[in-house]
Amino acid sequence: MAEKKEIYLGYSTDKAMTPFFQSFLEALDQEKLMKSKCTKCGAEYLPPREHCQKDMSKCELTELTEKEAKLYSYVIVDFAPESLSSKAPYVVAIGEFPSGLRLTAHITNLMSMPEVGMPLKLGFEKVDEKKITYKWLV
Ligand SMILES: [Zn+2]
Repeated sequence: MAEKKEIYLGYSTDKAMTPFFQSFLEALDQEKLMKSKCTKCGAEYLPPREHCQKDMSKCELTELTEKEAKLYSYVIVDFAPESLSSKAPYVVAIGEFPSGLRLTAHITNLMSMPEVGMPLKLGFEKVDEKKITYKWLV
């Protein structure tokens, strides 16, 4: 029988692969979401990228200060992978911040159908001591 693997929607704060990602995780552990900005062209990335997609220059991490966004798009997942089947149906949403940066995360506290344009707030959840995730709250 195949080994059952847990899929976790978030970050294990002790599993950084690079110093850049380590800094991202340390900030996330403090409930700060970091974006990155290209040192050459100024392009911004969320979640952060270490290198610019346009010119491959180094990016620097800066804290995302925006906490409120609008629902840009969403999908309702009825048929979830096994590891998430207990959470189905669930909503995966793309929120757009006033700056234009977009972030994909779950909406976990919906009481009615989501509507494009509705306000979203960025939230964090510590799953355990070493696991944290960000999510949208309505
Ligand atoms: Zn660039």
